[in-house]
Amino acid sequence: MTKKIAVLPGDGIGPEIVAEALKVLDCLKAEFGLQWETEPALIGGAAYDATGTPFPAETLALTQQADSILLGAVGGTKWESLDYSVRPERGLLGLRSELELFANLRPAILYPQLVAASTLKPEVVSGLDIMILRELTGGIYFGKPRGRRINEQGEREGFNTLVYSESEIRRIAHIGFQIARKRNQRLCSVDKANVLECTELWREVVIEVGQEYPDVTLSHMYVDNAAMQLVRNPKQFDVMLTDNLFGDILSDCAAMLSGSIGMLPSASLDKHGKGLYEPIHGSAPDIAGRGIANPIATILSLAMMLRYSFDDEINARRVEQAVIAALDAGYRTADIDCEGARKVGTAQMGDAIVAALRASH
Ligand code: NAD
Repeated sequence: MTKKIAVLPGDGIGPEIVAEALKVLDCLKAEFGLQWETEPALIGGAAYDATGTPFPAETLALTQQADSILLGAVGGTKWESLDYSVRPERGLLGLRSELELFANLRPAILYPQLVAASTLKPEVVSGLDIMILRELTGGIYFGKPRGRRINEQGEREGFNTLVYSESEIRRIAHIGFQIARKRNQRLCSVDKANVLECTELWREVVIEVGQEYPDVTLSHMYVDNAAMQLVRNPKQFDVMLTDNLFGDILSDCAAMLSGSIGMLPSASLDKHGKGLYEPIHGSAPDIAGRGIANPIATILSLAMMLRYSFDDEINARRVEQAVIAALDAGYRTADIDCEGARKVGTAQMGDAIVAALRASH
């Protein structure tokens, strides 16, 4: 049956990197018989410029009907002075919450070809393969009350609320245990239970859910220690389960372990496995329009789409192997460049991956 993919290129380097993922998709259709159709829509600053809102109703309708969503990135300096309610990032937050994409999967893998691109010592990071699972629709980013006010002393004051219900914790914990089951059966839940009541409940509920998964070894770590351990000895982790705020920070930290933020894909899933797939990086305004952005994170996001939304492990691996083959052949964008490499731009990297994919047929 034909699958419908909503394609939201967004802002900055978004359209450049999404174009390369679409080349890979076209190749999968032509060479491996995938029956997918794509339909583009606006989001973020591009949507604001065209319609006055970063998340137009047509985009919501398309993403609701589609089987899956591929997104580039949103945001940029041009829109930074806008009111919060219409900033590009609100479009993305709106999409995640409207579709209830509560489970954010962020793998951090260090390909052996890129060991030199990491800022950490090779023995600390080589062979790294961890999965950070971040709760995405709850916690302090959405908790109410929130805002700014003048307090009784006449001072400006800002406030946000960290809140999680038991059911929100339970559903993300189940996903964490299920992912760990398919990997190395180890789940480390990250919290700050020594200080925050909300995360004390988080730990309690994760332990309860863990009783249904006796084959998975559960451990707990305070977030400050987790940040330290991620750079000290990241290979100790298999799956890390985090709330929204801690996951945001830790996954960017893990991104650096793997050489470049341009290498890391992500998936955000709803309870039926429908997903939004996007690179973890932003719109990189500093390099937008120059044709030098790394498209690999977006292409690997497409591979995650095949695996998690369409249960197509064979083609997911084909795409991942094609990325490895392009790296093996020495192709490098500027962010992962090294001595002796074949330095290429965004489109040439996409072409190299497509050529490797075609050659694997
Ligand atoms: P960023 O991820 O856009 O860029 C950080 C650094 O990484 C920059 O030096 C950039 O050039 C580099 N970089 C990012 N992606 C790259 C790629 N594919 N290839 C090579 N280099 C790459 O983060 P930022 O600069 O903090 O944010 C820029 C804008 O993006 C802001 O408006 C921010 O709100 C937005 N943002 C959006 C998302 C998203 O759409 N999911 C995520 C993070 C930030």
